[in-house]
Amino acid sequence: MESADLSHLPRIDRLLSHEALRGLKAQLGPLFLAHLCRLCVDEARVSVRAGKSCPDLDTCAARVLSMGQALLNRRSQPVINASGVLLHTNLGRAPLSAKAASALLASAGRYVPLEMAIESGKRGGRGEFAHRALSVLSGAESALVVNNNAAAVLLVLSALCAGKRVIVSRGELVEIGGGFRVPDVLMRSGAQLVEVGTTNKTRLSDYEKAISEGGAAAILRVHQANFRMTGFVERPNLNRLAELAHSKGMLLIKDLGGGAFLDLAPYGLSGEPTVQASIKAGCDILCFSTDKVFGGPQGGAIVGREGLVKACQQDALARALRVSRLVLSALEGTLLSYLTGDLDEIPLMRAVRMPLEKTKERALGWKNFLESKGISVELIELNGAMGGGALAEEPLQSYGIALPLGQFGNANALLSGLRTGDPAVLGRIVNDRVVLDARSVLGDEDEGLLRAILKIGL
Ligand SMILES: *Cc1c(COP(=O)(O)O)cnc(C)c1O
Repeated sequence: MESADLSHLPRIDRLLSHEALRGLKAQLGPLFLAHLCRLCVDEARVSVRAGKSCPDLDTCAARVLSMGQALLNRRSQPVINASGVLLHTNLGRAPLSAKAASALLASAGRYVPLEMAIESGKRGGRGEFAHRALSVLSGAESALVVNNNAAAVLLVLSALCAGKRVIVSRGELVEIGGGFRVPDVLMRSGAQLVEVGTTNKTRLSDYEKAISEGGAAAILRVHQANFRMTGFVERPNLNRLAELAHSKGMLLIKDLGGGAFLDLAPYGLSGEPTVQASIKAGCDILCFSTDKVFGGPQGGAIVGREGLVKACQQDALARALRVSRLVLSALEGTLLSYLTGDLDEIPLMRAVRMPLEKTKERALGWKNFLESKGISVELIELNGAMGGGALAEEPLQSYGIALPLGQFGNANALLSGLRTGDPAVLGRIVNDRVVLDARSVLGDEDEGLLRAILKIGL
């Protein structure tokens, strides 16, 4: 009986040549389409065996089409970020500046003097411009860029501390997200973790005690980026920690996380120390992401004393963790904006520093336009966030609009309708309503946003 049912399963070759899949076949090619058809028939087989009726050819074709579309949607295509979270980890963190994107575009399809001093034609180091620019901006002697900040921390610990003791406060043995756990990275580097203090309080004397008991190569300070401890908490400031480390011939290494070069406190975001301040306070080596608050492409910067950075460069892991030429182009473009002080060229900096009034003006513009098209929306005050494991719990005030549910009936359905719209829009739900935040939408995306809303038909 079972085999009779299975014999009605659509045949792969008939599915492959189905009229409804012609467009998908042209886009994906026959091999990929055949893979999807097989998956679909396998699914059908399982459901027939479970006693369900056998889907017909057209139903299977429709299913293949939606599987294909869902996969195509997973490519790196633009999404309008109206979620109010500026560094949305699931949206690739910081978008590139126009300068960075055009530097990338100009060089990506060409040969570049990646490791050549073009004047002499001799071999040169990768990333020399970026490294020099990062040193100048941070006030550190030297710099090195690697694949991401996790790689930077791993490399630093491996090059400078393998086989040696590294002291870390128990309040800083954190998980950043995406599997980055400080104790695990430390172990993988070959360094030996020495925990001091307690979760909420670590005093200078705790570090002193650990040093007197067994010495250490370094003190590691980790910025508590994605959570905040309040109340009965204490840890020594960076200057005191640097003095202690140096008086014992040890290094002070800091994992800063975000990599802010600008004090963000005037924009309502306190608690994110700048790179320059950490160097000034006496860190020997500092690591940070270049795609968080810094606002560039994915990368990890190591800045600090020359001999130490050189040791990182010469470590066996450096080659495995090195930055790609594509990223370097984008980073160079981003750094130029920092060097000339044109911070508004960097989308993230522009969004953070956008005055509240400007977000209101923008949201009001959206409201007026939509109302002229017969869609009534409400202007509302919002609290966005920096996100990306930075500046935990510090709200970023903004304005936005709340959409009517229209034919969607509930907020989740509307949110999903917007995500799969054209262009795709990511909103968020506040009090059971879908809101679009004006701060995180990029400067040239208003038209696309409004077009997407009209298109889904509220
Ligand atoms: C984000 C973060 C990391 C990981 O950086 P990636 O660039 O994502 O690899 C490490 N440490 C801290 C403190 C962070 O905030």
